[in-house]
Amino acid sequence: MSDIKALDKEYIANTYARFPLEIVKGKGSLVYDENGGEYIDLGSGIAVTAFGIADDEWANAVSLQAGTLQHTSNLYYSSPCVKLAQMLCEKTGMKKVFFSNSGAEANECAIKTARKYAFEKKGSEYFNIITLKNSFHGRTVTTLAATGQEVFHKDFLPLTEGFLYADVNDCDGIKNMVAENKVAAIMIECVQGEGGVAALNKEFVKTVADICEKEDIILICDEVQCGNGRCGELYCYMNYGITPDIVSTAKGLGGGLPLGATLMGEKTKAVLGASDHGSTFGGNPVCCAGALSILSRIDEKLLEGVKAKSEYIFNELEGAPGVKSVSGMGLMIGIETEKNAADVINECMSNGVLVLKAKTKVRLLPALNIPDELLKKAVAVLKKACEV
Ligand SMILES: *Cc1c(COP(=O)(O)O)cnc(C)c1O
Repeated sequence: MSDIKALDKEYIANTYARFPLEIVKGKGSLVYDENGGEYIDLGSGIAVTAFGIADDEWANAVSLQAGTLQHTSNLYYSSPCVKLAQMLCEKTGMKKVFFSNSGAEANECAIKTARKYAFEKKGSEYFNIITLKNSFHGRTVTTLAATGQEVFHKDFLPLTEGFLYADVNDCDGIKNMVAENKVAAIMIECVQGEGGVAALNKEFVKTVADICEKEDIILICDEVQCGNGRCGELYCYMNYGITPDIVSTAKGLGGGLPLGATLMGEKTKAVLGASDHGSTFGGNPVCCAGALSILSRIDEKLLEGVKAKSEYIFNELEGAPGVKSVSGMGLMIGIETEKNAADVINECMSNGVLVLKAKTKVRLLPALNIPDELLKKAVAVLKKACEV
């Protein structure tokens, strides 16, 4: 461990503040450190390992594909990505999919698609994209611009032009912003993740969807974190009864391999043409074979389980000693604690439970299939750590 720590410090760029823990292996919702120490994982690599670590079905699909064809360029046809796109469309009603390798890239594609739609339909001055304050949409120069948090912007100016930030849950505010600007798209996370695990309210989301429909503005739902079953429906927007024009997703979709997807609806399916966009690795057969095994198992039964586990966590934590409030949806949960969140997180880690942070909150993103007895054990540790 000290070796790895020292080498990491020497050779890895200084962008990550790591916990003093080397994770070497895992199975399901259990992970192990270099000394064989066992932890219940309530973070899932930030909502990525949807069915836990080294899930058999996923690992089999991935290794079979790796031993058959690990890559072919997008100059040729390939079956795993087509099957995955078909499954995504059949399960959502969306019409076409562009595959990439990350959440930021999925959003880049969404932004390009929305801008091209608006340029062609309304004119080149309709380039503005409204996002929300406290949002998080990625780390590229354009998705940083989309991210409505100045802390991420400050050292990298100038960013891509044409992003406006509306107040969360302020219906009049966003109406006025649309009236006063030439707007191509509105992009929202139905549950803001990095911004503090806050679900948007239903009236606001409905209002945004209504404005978009009335004004022919592209509605983009960033489902990178809140999607893929995490919030109790296949995609979180389904909890709100809206139909977005574009859905971007990543994280949990690949189950642990890099995969981004931009889903386009009726309005946007024909916007991008040959050579408008591309990605060397996008739609990689190994990533897509793994994703097929994930997506095919996010069914009603699994989602019932997500909802039941969510209810259990909310019931246990709401009003518990040291807990100020519990927010979020499904298995995307934020806990405002009386203690400093970092202290709660460290205490959990010392007692064999891994949890995350989002702003000032403790954040939980357990595997969608975390066994109830492990969840029970982990929540007991967490409750104890919250006590002042
Ligand atoms: C993580 C995240 C992103 C960025 O995804 P990367 O794969 O890190 O590029 C974008 N949007 C949301 C909502 C996220 O949570």
